[in-house]
Amino acid sequence: MCVNPGMAVIIGNELLLMESVGHNVLMGFKVKRVLYQAKSPYQYIMVAEIEDFGKALVLDGLIQSSERTEYIYHESLVHPAMVLHPNPRRVLILGGGEGATLREVLKHKTVEKAVMVDIDEMVVEAAKKYLQEWHQGAFDDPRSEVVIEDGMKYVEECLKRGEKFDVIIMDLTDPYGPEVSKGLYSREFFSKLSSILSDDGVLVTQAGNSFFYRDVYDMVLENIRSVFKHVEEYMVWVPEFGYANNFILASKVHDPRSLKAEDVNARLQERGVKTKLFNGEYYEALIKMPIIRG
Ligand code: SAM
Repeated sequence: MCVNPGMAVIIGNELLLMESVGHNVLMGFKVKRVLYQAKSPYQYIMVAEIEDFGKALVLDGLIQSSERTEYIYHESLVHPAMVLHPNPRRVLILGGGEGATLREVLKHKTVEKAVMVDIDEMVVEAAKKYLQEWHQGAFDDPRSEVVIEDGMKYVEECLKRGEKFDVIIMDLTDPYGPEVSKGLYSREFFSKLSSILSDDGVLVTQAGNSFFYRDVYDMVLENIRSVFKHVEEYMVWVPEFGYANNFILASKVHDPRSLKAEDVNARLQERGVKTKLFNGEYYEALIKMPIIRG
């Protein structure tokens, strides 16, 4: 039987979603039921209930996040960048369709404006209808602005308007995934992001996996290093991905290694941020950890 990534196959009386972990590695999830599926102009969208994980958003056959474990990815993506900035008021999120990244950003009481730009309205509408546990009403927060647009185009418009942000969070599909997000991992795009960041701005991006996709990951890392003075990598095991997801944190002036656990805990407390996983000790461990490369 030929099984391709993103395929749903029947084995015995089980419906399995086969997810691509690496070029030649698949992981199968037992599907209990499919709640929604549709083809948007950009990707194939599915919301399914899978054994052991609860509901999950699946794009082009790749699980983006699951009900039971999404906090691991979203807290690890958002809070290192947010605590690295001393007073994040304006935040830009590229991607983040489920609304969980937006939810985590809004936990910081310093935030006055959080703009989430996702290219696919059908993903956002599916999230509003099926993924309440992810966004938890973040879309309706008065500080939120949800823009349906290509992130590349939105950033071009910010450049023209001279609009600046304190923190930019890239929660896009993988750099080796669908074409629709690939251009946003380029050197020139990171340079444009630097231009719309405030003088002490901070950038973080999810960057897929440095073990299974070492070549693509290295390219993204080099592109960021060519633009930003301070760059740190970290990785967090994300159960529904089947690997440790890489993140790259960058800043013009703030050195991530200068922030200690007690500084992070103080900022979280001052800002009223409650988390399941992230705290100062977790931050220090992330920043110090060695990266596993393919
Ligand atoms: N957690 C996921 C991961 O680690 O792969 C990413 C989550 S989120 C669902 C990815 C989002 O990026 C999707 O909603 C997709 O529509 C959006 N996206 C992809 N390309 C984009 C682009 N060029 N501009 C804006 N959003 C984009």
